[in-house]
Amino acid sequence: MNAKDAQAGTDGVAMPVRYVKGVGPKTAALLEKKGVRTVEDLLYFAPIRYEDRRRIDRVSEITETRRAVVVGVVRKASAVYYRRVRVFEAVVDDGSGQVVLKWFRGNDSYLRWSFRPGRKIIFFGELKVSPFGKEMAHPDFETIDEGIDDENLHFGRSVPVYSETEGLQQKQLRRVVRNALDTFSQCVGSPIPAEIRSRRGLADIPSALKDIHFPAIDADVGLYNERKSLAHRSLVFDELFFFQLALALKKGVRDRAPGIAFRRRGKLVESFFGMLPFELTAAQRRVFDEVEKDMSDGRPMQRLLQGDVGCGKTVIAMAAVLRAVENGYQGAVMAPTEILAVQHHQNMRRWAEPLGLRIGLLTGSLSKKDRLDTLDRVASGRLDIVIGTHALIQDHVSFKGLGLVVIDEQHRFGVAQRQKFTEKGANPDVLVMTATPIPRTLAMTVYGDLDVSVIDEMPRGRARVKTKVFSERQRDRVYEIVRSEVAKGGQAFVVYPLVAGSETLDLRDATRMAGHLQRDVFPGFRVGLVHGRMKGEEKERIMSEFSGGGLDILVSTTVVEVGIDVPQASLMVIEHAERFGLSQLHQLRGRVGRGNRRSYCILMASSTGTKVSSRRLRVMEETNDGFLVAEEDLAIRGPGEFMGTRQSGLPEFRVANIFRDLGIMDEAREDAFSVIERDPGLARPENEGLYRELMRRWSDRIGYAKTG
Ligand code: ADP
Ligand code: MG
Repeated sequence: MNAKDAQAGTDGVAMPVRYVKGVGPKTAALLEKKGVRTVEDLLYFAPIRYEDRRRIDRVSEITETRRAVVVGVVRKASAVYYRRVRVFEAVVDDGSGQVVLKWFRGNDSYLRWSFRPGRKIIFFGELKVSPFGKEMAHPDFETIDEGIDDENLHFGRSVPVYSETEGLQQKQLRRVVRNALDTFSQCVGSPIPAEIRSRRGLADIPSALKDIHFPAIDADVGLYNERKSLAHRSLVFDELFFFQLALALKKGVRDRAPGIAFRRRGKLVESFFGMLPFELTAAQRRVFDEVEKDMSDGRPMQRLLQGDVGCGKTVIAMAAVLRAVENGYQGAVMAPTEILAVQHHQNMRRWAEPLGLRIGLLTGSLSKKDRLDTLDRVASGRLDIVIGTHALIQDHVSFKGLGLVVIDEQHRFGVAQRQKFTEKGANPDVLVMTATPIPRTLAMTVYGDLDVSVIDEMPRGRARVKTKVFSERQRDRVYEIVRSEVAKGGQAFVVYPLVAGSETLDLRDATRMAGHLQRDVFPGFRVGLVHGRMKGEEKERIMSEFSGGGLDILVSTTVVEVGIDVPQASLMVIEHAERFGLSQLHQLRGRVGRGNRRSYCILMASSTGTKVSSRRLRVMEETNDGFLVAEEDLAIRGPGEFMGTRQSGLPEFRVANIFRDLGIMDEAREDAFSVIERDPGLARPENEGLYRELMRRWSDRIGYAKTG
């Protein structure tokens, strides 16, 4: 198929990017590194910024220091020495005058090649005017190829600048994008209803795509750089509209699905609350009310329970499980790690057994016999409650009557896993718990189809964990603190980023340090080691030895991050703290201060750390509020890393940015939800195009292919 044929068909833009004129195998491979595989990907490969090169300055007319854009010919270029400092200098002449370009460091050979005498160059930056002449340090520049007609792609206009790719020049990118636009932009459309498009004042997709790459000559470059141009707004709205449409459709389908109404109120929940040695906090009571209301109504619950470490989410989960059991169903709890599953199992068994309930554990490390036995009891209904890891969602697991699914620490599980879990029952209720306090705005995108409950209150008497950053020089002092804390009857965690030594990184690791600490530093104390590469049973044995008081110091990796509950643990030392995200540090810190002891967290910052990293760590000293920590983390690291990996469920957008474009997200949500309100299954003929486009873009995310 050639490009002309493709143009006729609507699928043209789905073709591999090499069908674009000027894209050979080498360029295609480079583009692939940027995630650009199809013609469509290339059309949506938005510039990261724009440069105003509409006016070319004449050197003679620049009389005082200012930003300038100059086109000229290289006269000479070479490295020169000032005292002992090597500087690369190039003299460029534009016919009216000369400018000396200077580089104080950098790749000489590349510069020498680019600035061969006689070559034509466009450069821009701050042009300094002094009595000694005109010069510019570290200019942005491009070489201009003679004899190629580039229809003013590179200067004489506002030009796009794309995200840097090794081996791919801006000029080349501009050229292939231009070719792609010329051949294919008319093939791209969007079925967003005309009414919405005009009410929101949006451009059509082909012209938005053209403008986003090559703004009109009179366009406001500032607006483009802020990504607020009409082209940006139109493309962003389009992306977010379909995203919200997916959420709306999914939520609508779920709301109409026949779920379980847990109407019966038996004795279990009540007895459980009576059994607790404490009163629920007001926030816990409010949240349980919300859960109860969802459970008793016939639609399947999909609720996110958000609350900082230690606020008491497990109690709420347990009560919800008991409500399901009272109604003759099974409840299941899935945790992200074996350690955490084991701990949930221990806690919940303590509560469940006095109530006469049968509770089991299902993890990957059970013996074959135990596993088969548990599977059998789950399938036949001889277990009321089952706690486990991913093992719960394996194909061979089946339930007699799964009524409630609880997923702990959701951000470690993907949307697909949630889906798989719920398919173990007939539209069971779902309660998702997370300790990562996701800013509300973000929660809407990540969990847009869930209802949200927040426990925003800590149990009374919970003292904050006092946190302090220490440097390498103070290591002896830190060991002294550990010694005195353990001598007073406390226990300490010492966390390292790595299990074992790394060849390439100069880091302390848990395995080596555990030996060293036991032998050389704390010979009088009992030091244990736990990490993720250990077998499940061994991890479990060591964790319970520690929580039972059989160990004084537990050396570990981040396996202790989530949920571990050791009341006597009062000191947390985190080595190479700068290597962890703030939210992760907060989670780790939450492992102490769970009992009545005054608790402390020591962050060891490597001396090689940057200023930024130590400023970042200070945030931990200043606040114990997980929400603030999360927001700071988000601001510093950006959403992708903040949430972990792609697993986080954060959608990937091509042009939109969920932080910058919040206002548009709201508008898109409003419009998308109202479309679904009028046509819940998108089944009307006039919505056929919307439905097809929605499935093309988001079917994997919304997890089903039909509206059923
Ligand atoms: P989370 O799962 O939110 O991190 P947990 O449910 O594990 O928190 O609770 C942390 C600790 O606080 C547990 O030991 C739990 O028994 C206790 N706890 C829970 N709710 C309360 C409360 N209302 N008052 C006092 N202690 C509580
Ligand atoms: Mg928890």
